[in-house]
Amino acid sequence: MATATKSRQAADDTILDHLFRPMGVDGVYARTHEYENVVDALQRLISRHRPEGTEVFRFPPVMSLRQLEKQGYLNSFPQLLGCVCALHGTEADVSAAVDRAKNGSDWTSETTSADLVLSPAACYPVYPIAAKKGPVPAKGLTFDVAADCFRHEPSKDLDRLQSFRMREYVRIGAPADIATFREQWMQRAQSIAEALQLPYHFDRASDPFFGRVGQLMAANQIEQALKFELLIPVRGEGGPTACMSFNYHREHFGKTWGLRDQSGELAHSGCVAFGIDRLTLALFSTHGLDVDAWPRGVLEALRLD
Ligand code: ATP
Ligand code: ZN
Ligand code: MG
Repeated sequence: MATATKSRQAADDTILDHLFRPMGVDGVYARTHEYENVVDALQRLISRHRPEGTEVFRFPPVMSLRQLEKQGYLNSFPQLLGCVCALHGTEADVSAAVDRAKNGSDWTSETTSADLVLSPAACYPVYPIAAKKGPVPAKGLTFDVAADCFRHEPSKDLDRLQSFRMREYVRIGAPADIATFREQWMQRAQSIAEALQLPYHFDRASDPFFGRVGQLMAANQIEQALKFELLIPVRGEGGPTACMSFNYHREHFGKTWGLRDQSGELAHSGCVAFGIDRLTLALFSTHGLDVDAWPRGVLEALRLD
């Protein structure tokens, strides 16, 4: 390993050691008080940008397996999904599985699905809730949602976690409305990054669709500019990291959940996602491990002054 690479890796390790504690699995960490203080401040900063009339939901880290299947997740990202399994059956069945564990055998092979998955994104549960409200009003719908998300992408990199926090603003409405929503949020994201004095740039992006067919879907997504990311250098090595994303789903969720306007037209949707852990890590990696020594303006923006 070249010396420069080594020292960049060492800088990442220092951040990890300072802010996190290992929990025995790559990409899953206990977070320190100092880190969580910044997380809370960042969440409040994002809340201060909440548009009027926004409905707020905080989701648990699990969601319905059927709902996720219905919107096509298994076709697109099966490799990332984590599924909740449990021991079902009679007392004898459960005892037999426990005995396997006692004998050093694999007891988990006795488990079956509990109809739950670990939420891979914060916005998925909101569309069926929105559909229950009846026709989408002409002025559209806006939601502020958040969840602890899981993606099966174990890594030693400090910015690729298996369990991480995602905050989103979601808009459901007419196509032009979603375009405006996305543009406004790209502007706001820019001013947030500037207030936090984080170096950034925007780029078109694609999602990590599974397999060979997935490559076509990803190419299509880029060509149609359905996803933009705001990237910030977080790690010493490799390129900058996607810390926010700006997504246009077209009528995907409208079709899945029967979201229509008063005249029966399918509603479109879009979301802006804040990677709370990545943004927090970006702050520490840009401004240093001592929060009190961060630039005045950054502390003021976060109201940590
Ligand atoms: P990447 O290209 O880096 O895998 P993504 O395209 O999968 O990111 P999105 O699906 O748009 O990301 O998720 C929304 C936000 O959640 C991202 O902008 C990022 O900030 C955050 N995020 C996604 N995956 C992770 C992860 N493994 N660890 C930490 N944060 C993540
Ligand atoms: Zn979303
Ligand atoms: Mg990803």
